[in-house]
Formats: sequence, C-alpha cells, structure tokens
Amino acid sequence: MKKILLYTFVILIINACGTTKTSTTILPSKDDIAIKTAPDPISIGIAKKPRNIILMIGDGMGITQITAGLYSNDNKLNLERCKVIGLHKPYASNKLITDSAAAATSFACGVKTYNGAIGVDADTMPVKTILEYAEERELATGLVATSTIVHATPASFIAHQPQRKMYEEIARDFLDTEIDLFIGGGKKYFDRREDKADLLKILESRGYKVGHYAEGDLPKKLETEKNYAYLTSDSDPLTKSAGRDYLPHATKLAVDFLHARGKGFFLMVEGSQIDWGGHANDSDYIIAEMLDFDKAIGHVLDYAEKDGETLVIITADHETGGYAINPGSEMGKIEGAFTSDYHTADLVPVFAYGPGAEAFAGFYENTAIFDKMMEAFEWTTDDK
Ligand code: MG
Ligand code: ZN
Repeated sequence: MKKILLYTFVILIINACGTTKTSTTILPSKDDIAIKTAPDPISIGIAKKPRNIILMIGDGMGITQITAGLYSNDNKLNLERCKVIGLHKPYASNKLITDSAAAATSFACGVKTYNGAIGVDADTMPVKTILEYAEERELATGLVATSTIVHATPASFIAHQPQRKMYEEIARDFLDTEIDLFIGGGKKYFDRREDKADLLKILESRGYKVGHYAEGDLPKKLETEKNYAYLTSDSDPLTKSAGRDYLPHATKLAVDFLHARGKGFFLMVEGSQIDWGGHANDSDYIIAEMLDFDKAIGHVLDYAEKDGETLVIITADHETGGYAINPGSEMGKIEGAFTSDYHTADLVPVFAYGPGAEAFAGFYENTAIFDKMMEAFEWTTDDK
C-alpha cells in the first residue's frame, strides 16, 4: 500500500513539474527504499503537536501480563503497533509498592502521593488533573473503565478525595467537572446513595443523556449533541469470561463521540480487571482481560492512524501478582505462576504512538507521564 502511494507521489511530482513523457517506467531508487523502510513519522511522533490524547491504562499490566496475552493470541497484539517504548518507575510517596490510586494520581496530576489518594497530593491537598486542564481549555473529555467509574483509576482523573473507598463522594465529584462522556460500572454510587441524592437525575437536568445496563446495551452510535453517561453495572462489572463485552465497543464509541465534538479531546480508557486477575492469581482471567484490552487498543490505534493528530499512550499503573510464565508453558498454553496476591514494584512499560510519542521513550518517574502529556499539548501547570 505504502509502495503504491509512494509511486503515485513520485508520478504526481513528475507531472507537476510538467514532464510530459507518459511511458516512463519508474523503478524504486535507493532513496525510495530508504523512505519505505524508515519508521513512519506519525507512529514515532515527529510530525507535530497532538490535538487529542488518549491515555490507556491496563491496571496491573506488567511485562508478563502482556507476554501471556501475546503468546495466547497467535503471537500478536495490537500493542506491537506502537514503535516508541519506555519504562516508568511506579513507586508511591509512602510505599515502594504503589496502589492504583496513588499511581493513577501520578499520571493524572504529576505528583507522587500516598496509597489510597485520589487526585490529592501527599498532604491530601487537591491537585488539578490533566482532565480538568483539558476541560478548562475547552477540549472534550472522557473516561471509560471496566471497573466502577468511581474506582481508583478513573476516579483519580476527575475526583479529589483523601481515600479511594469514598465512592459516594467520588461520584459527587463527577458533577464538579463537565466531563463530556463516561462509561463504567457503579450505578449504585450515583442513585442509591446514603444521602438519598440521585446524581443520575442531576446529570440529566444538566443536559446529559444518561443510560444504564438495565435499560439495554450501549447504543451502536451516540448522538453527539448532549454529554453522555452510561453505567454498565450496579457495582463491579462482570469479568470478560462471564460475558462482559463492552470495552472495545465503548472505546470506539467514546473516540468517535469525542472526535465529533470537534475541539480536540482527552480520553482515558482503563482495562481495569487485568489487575483483578493478578490478585486472584488466575492466569486465564489475566489473559482474557489482557486480550479484551488489546482489542480496545486496536480500535484506538486504527483511529489514531487515520486521524494523524492523536497521541496514544498505553501503560499500566503497576504489575500485579509477581506473575511469571513458567516451564511447561507453550505457545497458546501458559503455565502461570505467582509470587504475591498483591502488586509488585516492577518497572512498568509505556507504549506510545502518534505526534509527541518520541517523548515517551526512555526511563522516567510515573509522574513524568503527566508532564509529558502537558508538554505535548504545550500547556503549563497553574503553579508555573
Ligand atoms: Mg484500576
Ligand atoms: Zn490491584
């Protein structure tokens, strides 16, 4: 395909220069071959500043989780399409082994903080998130997760609470930011609350189109006039193997919806349950969730490839389980082993694609994910 495009381009240039010889046979020159084998400038990100950023977090997705997914899927993953790879240091401010709240807050706010912190620093002071900066600068914003939407990872991008378990308070924080779209579980934290408030009604009164699992599946297409909220379950969504299948579709819906807003966007998509498979020391659970997340990655990269103005960053908050692929494993059959039922302190891989991607090569703190996203957008923080 690229070859044909290249030749067409050469012919067009020749025509543009007024050459009238129509029967010239054009053979690839040495230079043409060099162009063809060089990495695509969009994929390594030297093109320009991005208009959109999509941050994809595989919770608990260490190198082994990725490898197990790869070898269980005919030795291929969409993740391989990213040509820029880095490593981040995932430790928390108070513990070497981070939890998802501290880690997501580092991505969202650029600060190291304590385990359990949601969008607050080590002194429990609220810190503005990348999603809030995006809202302020009138970009469209979105969150998609396969946990509840008030769970640590998505919550850290929109809420400011001293403890991750404060689900009802986190749900209320969704009303403080005019997020354009969110899709995830946890309906009960919005409409069956201790304070009896019905946050879904409040969202509706503020012009959101609100949907939930009990009324039917996610629509095939979304109307784009109204903001959109969809609750996929009352509490935790099902596992992939128990029948949950919304993540790839929800991701595609979210991207198309935010794109249609026509003003640039920030979207965070989480494959939440790779981590839960690690906690359960269940290899099959990890693999099913990993491959589901990789499908969502495929949709995002298809979009980014076409769009050319979207920076995609794919990473994890930490590894979970001390997962290893043990002897006895074969291609298509993983013998998983675990050293822990909690997170580990392993370095975490970062994959990037699109304009600005090259900044994600190298070795850095998890807080640098925030810094690099801000730099890609050419934004500065309020305190600078
Ligand atoms: Mg999570
Ligand atoms: Zn976990």
